[in-house]
Amino acid sequence: MMKPNEIVNDLKNMIPEAKCELIYNKDYELLIATVLSAQSTDKGVNKVTEKLFNNYNLEGISKANLNELEDILRPLGTFRRKAVYLKEIATLLLENHNGIVPNDRKYLESLPGVGHKTCNVVLSNLYDENCMAVDTHVTRVSKRLGLALENDDVVTIEQKLVKKFAGYSLKDLHHRLVLFGRYICVAKNPKCSSCLFQEICKYNNKKLH
Ligand code: SF4
Repeated sequence: MMKPNEIVNDLKNMIPEAKCELIYNKDYELLIATVLSAQSTDKGVNKVTEKLFNNYNLEGISKANLNELEDILRPLGTFRRKAVYLKEIATLLLENHNGIVPNDRKYLESLPGVGHKTCNVVLSNLYDENCMAVDTHVTRVSKRLGLALENDDVVTIEQKLVKKFAGYSLKDLHHRLVLFGRYICVAKNPKCSSCLFQEICKYNNKKLH
């Protein structure tokens, strides 16, 4: 088993820039983009949010006709539900926090469409809170690297990563695990020949998925 610093260093070598690939300029734009990213790719979300944020500010979203929002969100999965979420989130944020996304996990997780993972993404990126969002890429990579067991759920994986990488930037680790999973350790036909984890990898050594 590799030590945490070895894993962090190898990840840094393969993924030099730890960054969020969702495009945003305002705090509420990150929150909205993250809500939209459920069951959708960041690339798809960025195309949609470019149009959305060019046409609507937060107040505009809160007052928008649902059909108009649905038209913009249509390329994304579950776009009708997401349109409802966006209107409600915009309305609540304006009413409760003058349109500012607060550093308040309980409040954020009470918003429609905002779950634990979304909250971790938002709080780590906006407020540098040291928390780990576990998405599909983090899950797959963690299992392949033996950082989690095959049948671990996302809550268990999060707990294991937080414990193992205590003292490291979980925000940077999250971004690098996501990018590593998105571009190298992809679900099908991962690019193992250019990976520094070949010796410890369960998938590479045992052909486990
Ligand atoms: S060796 Fe292949 S499957 Fe294993 S972590 Fe690297 S890219 Fe992923």
